[in-house]
Amino acid sequence: MVAYDFTKVPVIKVVDDIIVRAANMEASDIHFDPRENDLLVRFRVDGDLKDYTRVPKIYERNLITRIKLISNMNITENRLPQDGAIKGVIGGLSLDMRVSTLPTNEGEKCVIRILDYTRSLSGIESLGFSHTNFEKLKRMIEVPNGIILITGATGSGKSTTVYSILQRLNKAETNIITVEDPIEMNIEGLNQVQVNSEIGLDFATVLRSILRQDPNIILIGEIRDSETAKIAVRASITGHLVLSTVHTNNSLSTIERLLDMNVERYLLSSALTGIISQRLAKMLCPHCRKKVAPDAYQKKVFQLALGKEVTELYVANEEGCEHCIHGYHGRIAVQEVLVINDAIRDALNNETLERDELRKMVYTSDVITLLQDGLDKVLAGITSFDEIYRIIDIDDDLNVLLESKEKQEEKQEEKQEDLKQEKSKNKNTVSPPQITIPSLDSFFTNPPMPYPGTVPIKQTEDNKN
Ligand SMILES: [Zn+2]
Repeated sequence: MVAYDFTKVPVIKVVDDIIVRAANMEASDIHFDPRENDLLVRFRVDGDLKDYTRVPKIYERNLITRIKLISNMNITENRLPQDGAIKGVIGGLSLDMRVSTLPTNEGEKCVIRILDYTRSLSGIESLGFSHTNFEKLKRMIEVPNGIILITGATGSGKSTTVYSILQRLNKAETNIITVEDPIEMNIEGLNQVQVNSEIGLDFATVLRSILRQDPNIILIGEIRDSETAKIAVRASITGHLVLSTVHTNNSLSTIERLLDMNVERYLLSSALTGIISQRLAKMLCPHCRKKVAPDAYQKKVFQLALGKEVTELYVANEEGCEHCIHGYHGRIAVQEVLVINDAIRDALNNETLERDELRKMVYTSDVITLLQDGLDKVLAGITSFDEIYRIIDIDDDLNVLLESKEKQEEKQEEKQEDLKQEKSKNKNTVSPPQITIPSLDSFFTNPPMPYPGTVPIKQTEDNKN
């Protein structure tokens, strides 16, 4: 941990130094945690919080006040939560940060989020989609109407994916309007609206006005309630492309969430174009990763999920090296891309359909599950089996795969039966559907890059001199 000498260094300098060091360490957030005897400063790097320094209690108030001052907050208010922002050049770095304070029993807790646009600006090609998933995504966003949902927990890189898609669709001939809370990135050419519930400007209110603004593409920051969900679906069937995020785990739970929000089934079935689910896994450090033989459980998982005999795997070198922390550096997205086909549309329309049936239906289509995509990335040496185990419920995902495999075999038997009958009638044959797993050579559209918060922030011109 770093120690500052507050008797010699003014608080202003300490705050600047903390921010610059966090940015240089590729942190996504800086936490200032008030405790009984001191203020603990922590950095979130690659998804994990790490202690950075302790500030003596007597300097806590000054330090928090300084942060509130530079983020345009009311420095006399310390009993209510506040939001602010810092934009400018600090210690030679051009930074954009969002700041929030929260009164706790030990004092005001402050969190600074360091926004990093580098990744979103480098296009959807750099988001780690496998070749197959990327082709599906491209097909999805070419459709001028319908709704595309991006799902995942907080910190799963949803926003980066959404902004990257918008960047691609951002052309002179299109009118793109967004309604967000908060606006996480300002993009030239978009009309971005910030929700303000204090004055009654909520998602639903803004959406109703947006529809009168002749939009081609609408981004709804997040679907949280029934009203927003219903407007989103209605907008998408009246000739608009709607993008939104939902806080769910996978494609199936997203459909279920929307049905729970009382979105009419017949509207949803015709509106939904596709669902992208994602998680972030830490990337193995290519400088010090190690090769090992997989254990029995790992072998079984690869066999069941990918149908592959695996004899060696890369693992993290826990000691790490000069390029990494405990053998990891940066993060990569693991994705599941579901394109809604006619069979799923029919299933959605069926009021009496059981959850299990819908589940099999979703995973019998040519979807590559989160687990399969993750394991492919393990085989490519990009991430580790431990990481996939941490971010995905492997056993649950395996069950789904096994069930859908059974279902597929049933289907194939039916098809073969049909085939025999057809042949006897001298008609053309139909080939059975197949789950396609991409070969590793063609796996990535572009080499994988680390995720936001893990990309070094470039120094500004005036700092180079
Ligand atoms: Zn390393």
